[in-house]
Amino acid sequence: MRAAVFEGAGRPLAVTTVPDPAPGADEVVIEVAQAGICGSDLHMAEYGAVPAGTIFGHEYAGTVAALGTGVRGTLRVGDRVTALPVQACHHCEACAAALPALCATGRFTGTHPELPGAYAEYVIARAGMVQALPAGVSFAEGAMVEPLAVAHHAVELAHLRPDDTVLVIGAGPIGAGVIVFARAAGARHVIVSERSAARREIALSLGATAALDPAAGALPERCAAVAGVRPSVVFECVGVPGLVQAAIEATGVRGRVVVAGVCFAPDTIRPLTALMKEVSVQFSQCYTEANFASVIDALARRAVRVQPMHTHTVGFAALPETFESLRGAPGGCKVLIDPRA
Ligand SMILES: [Zn+2]
Ligand SMILES: [Zn+2]
Repeated sequence: MRAAVFEGAGRPLAVTTVPDPAPGADEVVIEVAQAGICGSDLHMAEYGAVPAGTIFGHEYAGTVAALGTGVRGTLRVGDRVTALPVQACHHCEACAAALPALCATGRFTGTHPELPGAYAEYVIARAGMVQALPAGVSFAEGAMVEPLAVAHHAVELAHLRPDDTVLVIGAGPIGAGVIVFARAAGARHVIVSERSAARREIALSLGATAALDPAAGALPERCAAVAGVRPSVVFECVGVPGLVQAAIEATGVRGRVVVAGVCFAPDTIRPLTALMKEVSVQFSQCYTEANFASVIDALARRAVRVQPMHTHTVGFAALPETFESLRGAPGGCKVLIDPRA
């Protein structure tokens, strides 16, 4: 099959032919219809955080092409599906709590040469992690279920109430999904702070009630000007140093901060700022199977509209160049790969 292979930091992805995958006993081979390029793929490539030979791609939708010999249940060849890209141990504390994405020894598809991802014509998933896509959910939407589930999980952990005023820091794919699900949860104000004018436009089209450029002035005052109060909930969806503190500063008395941004660098906060307002800080990592199911259900019921997140689609020919260009200043939101294009 054709696949785009990571060959090391500073080198473009190589589109080449690799062996077709064969399913293990409890695995499923999925023919990829659409796969998402994720910011974490760009990070792993930039910092050489994964070995050469890795095929990225943990966000995908497609059609079941083959089943392992031990797969039981209702899955059939030809089913339209997506999957949690999680290889969990099923024995640890996290797995026992139905939190496979927090498994201490778990690994993610598309993060190691042994677990090739969906920048390819075919990808392998654990049968137990596969979820069916109803007929009304497109493959493009299906490929966005994974990042949408990250956002759904973050919103779930915020326990939103209808009178909440929400601030979302960052309108990349995760922030965009948080806007969608915060609005769906009934939040009256969902204010976005985002540097990119193009992403601010996308945020507004997804239901944000205001979109602010953080370079244009202090966030707490500007949120209060829009909503009349400081945000009661702040979602940090960027993951660079300084933004957890910015979120703590932006929220009000007994405010809640949910950190979904993935920050690899050490960071500092000023505890006194949080203490004087009794702020709660909740970190949010990935999703559960229930988040995936809820996102698929919301898409099937047309309870949420996510198409504005999908800014363009590339085939293998344009993928290496597109991948490099996304590391600069991202103007779009979610770029999808169509392996057959
Ligand atoms: Zn991702
Ligand atoms: Zn585990």
